Amino acid sequence: MTFLVTTPTNLGDEMIERSGLGDDMNFVPTNKGPLQSKAHENIFVIGDASNIPASKAGSVAHFEGEILEEDILRFIAGKPLKEEFDGHSNCFVETGNGKAILIDFNYTQEPVEGTFPIPGVAPLKLLKETRMNHMGKLAFRWIYWNMLLKGTHIPFVTTTMSTEGKIIEKKD
Ligand SMILES: Cc1cc2nc3c(=O)[nH]c(=O)nc-3n(C[C@H](O)[C@H](O)[C@H](O)COP(=O)(O)OP(=O)(O)OC[C@H]3O[C@@H](n4cnc5c(N)ncnc54)[C@H](O)[C@@H]3O)c2cc1C
Repeated sequence: MTFLVTTPTNLGDEMIERSGLGDDMNFVPTNKGPLQSKAHENIFVIGDASNIPASKAGSVAHFEGEILEEDILRFIAGKPLKEEFDGHSNCFVETGNGKAILIDFNYTQEPVEGTFPIPGVAPLKLLKETRMNHMGKLAFRWIYWNMLLKGTHIPFVTTTMSTEGKIIEKKD
């Protein structure tokens, strides 16, 4: 049996095209550390609109927001930016039968194995298909509405990717 999966080219919104800020795919060219528009230093770009080589994901928009909260204040005050966004992404992938996989990665690190969010303790397992990961996804609904939207920091979940409790392969 042959199984074909096709994905259309992912394009940015026409509104970005009309703004004149976008590239030929309607994404805003962005410096990936400070999340600043390449054309205008007083424009910061967040979420799916940016062309940074990170996942188009809610977690990315969230981590970017945490970084920009401080960097925009630094910019207004004329201080140097921290420029620290590392492409951190963290997503549940539902696999069916009450199980899910949890992935954690950034600009340079492919999804890794390990424990999350408490290093060495878990309860969630990265890159493993488990029932507990599915329960984590269900719990995240509550966390989203009651913590994230109110701007409450989620304990143990770092803005940039932590390597603690994770199996990181050394590159030559
Ligand atoms: C089906 C689907 C499932 C997904 N599942 C997940 C998931 O499980 N986990 C995950 O992390 N991410 C998931 N994502 C991705 C995630 O939703 C996006 O990465 C995230 O919402 C991007 O946030 P954003 O603020 O950049 O853009 P958006 O959330 O798209 O917000 C853009 C806002 O701008 C508004 N807007 C557009 N044009 C104008 C205009 N001209 N004037 C004023 N307002 C305007 C829109 O109405 C919208 O409210 C999913 C996306 C899709 C489509």
